[in-house]
Amino acid sequence: SKSAGRGAGQPRDELLGGLLASGFDEGSCLSRYQSSSYRRPSPHKPSSYLISRLRNYESLHKRCGPHSEPYKKALEDLKSDRAVGSTECKYVVWISFSGLGNRILTLSSSFLYALLTNRVLLIDQGKDMVDLFCEPFPEASWLLPKDFPIANQFNSFGQSSPNCHGNLLKNNMIYHPEKPLPAYLYLHLVHDYNDHDKLFFCDEDQRAIEKVPWLIIKSDNYFIPSLFLMPSFERELFNLFPEKETIFHHLDERVGIQVRTFDSGDGPFPYVMDQIIACTQKEKLLPEVNVRGTVSAPSGSSKLKAVLVTSLNLGYAENLKSMYWMHPTVTGEMVGIYQPSHEGHQQTEKPLHNRKAWAEMYLLSLSDVLVTSSWSTFGYVAQGLGGLKPWILVKPENRTTPNPPCGRAMSMEPCFHAPPFYDCKAKRGIDTGAVVPHVRHCEDISWGLKVV
Ligand code: GDP
Repeated sequence: SKSAGRGAGQPRDELLGGLLASGFDEGSCLSRYQSSSYRRPSPHKPSSYLISRLRNYESLHKRCGPHSEPYKKALEDLKSDRAVGSTECKYVVWISFSGLGNRILTLSSSFLYALLTNRVLLIDQGKDMVDLFCEPFPEASWLLPKDFPIANQFNSFGQSSPNCHGNLLKNNMIYHPEKPLPAYLYLHLVHDYNDHDKLFFCDEDQRAIEKVPWLIIKSDNYFIPSLFLMPSFERELFNLFPEKETIFHHLDERVGIQVRTFDSGDGPFPYVMDQIIACTQKEKLLPEVNVRGTVSAPSGSSKLKAVLVTSLNLGYAENLKSMYWMHPTVTGEMVGIYQPSHEGHQQTEKPLHNRKAWAEMYLLSLSDVLVTSSWSTFGYVAQGLGGLKPWILVKPENRTTPNPPCGRAMSMEPCFHAPPFYDCKAKRGIDTGAVVPHVRHCEDISWGLKVV
């Protein structure tokens, strides 16, 4: 197999081209600076503008972070339940919600939104966030203090909560010159959100939201594609993320296969097994086997393919393993199949379960070639971290193997599963996947949106 891919003498890019801040105590969280040693240097370099905005953000975060004077001031607004307008710092509070893949995507979306609006991102610690992530910003925590006044209401926040942005709009309670501005708005960006909640993605509404010191976001969606459709953010996003070259050399040695099924009943499902084999062989990601031949001892020169399978279910990897164990490959390559865990079912509240999930998303991201399952944010996190355009297994209908079994992703970006279809200016429905060339419908969800 291949080493980390760093040429001899080439310094390791611990700070990931400046995405990470320097100056942390290394021992405080080992993976912060060590993660670069596990992967090849990325061909996608962050823009210098992004780096400078990150450094500015970090100083804002330090100035306004938990227990700072401006933080205490902003809390007073919250306690008196009205924005007196004196707050120097404004905040986005991210609520820990849904599976880990979903959470990582909503964290990224909320962070970018905070960056675009000069707010400070603070995160609800939930049951396991402290255990799973390094502190990203130097000298000030990103964890919302446990004594945050309305933290005990986070779980019950929903579309009909009194401070829910969509709800206030529906009842004409916001943008009213005589109504005091609320100290906080709850932004319901969960997949079941309604047309009023979706007005969050309109510039006009952002102008009112802008004045509110505390924004509390609950989401299970990667909502960045729709930010690209908002004129007020367009220019800034373009500067932060200018067009990138996508030159990625596939050496076909480490193959990751993520199997996530959403059909009821216990797997492994034969139609999914057939689909995995059809996809990997048709796309020449894995060699075919000669069912009449017998496996001989590997010669020193035979190539090795290491296949990482992740799934809640053990069956898919077991089947692949016995296929390559029993029969020789037609190319003479050796194929090893590895599956780190098989958790049976999703157990989002368990810290150890989530650690395994995080490790597996990370391991998948180290693949040279990646196969993912449709609809899964778990796969999106792996492809995004790895800078990979995966082959996406088409979602099976009626429990049958789809034909073609898989297709190549257009870009490494995650899909926004529940975007609005609204033209804010014309105030009517439109196809938001046909507005600009770089925001299109997703490969795996025809109504979803992704940046390409
Ligand atoms: P999504 O539901 O596929 O969009 O992804 P999420 O990560 O948000 O939620 C699925 C959760 O199920 C994960 O966070 C894990 O807790 C669990 N899970 C699903 N697939 C796997 C897997 O292949 N390996 C492990 N360890 N956990 C998984």
